[in-house]
Amino acid sequence: MRKWRASELERLAELAAAHVPLAQIAIELRRTTPSVKDKIRYLHERARRPAKTGHRGRPRKPHTPDNAIQSLEAMPRHCLCCTRTFVSEWIGNRICVRCKNSEMF
Ligand SMILES: [Zn+2]
Repeated sequence: MRKWRASELERLAELAAAHVPLAQIAIELRRTTPSVKDKIRYLHERARRPAKTGHRGRPRKPHTPDNAIQSLEAMPRHCLCCTRTFVSEWIGNRICVRCKNSEMF
């Protein structure tokens, strides 16, 4: 396969931009249709590349320390109301059952 010259690539880009059919471009540039197709794809990729600079932004996972994970689980906690230790099912449960029943809860 002959190497594409810069002038040929320019012509190809022009024809492709003008929506000239691949077969027509192939005839004009004296290339095979698959070759023209490949080159158009190459031109598109090359055109897209400069926009993407540096690393692709990856969504960062929030770093969760082990003790933070543990604190979300069921564990003995002090009741905020009577300060008695009770088994809290999750971190948001900070009032013991007795206080919940007796007070405004
Ligand atoms: Zn309590």
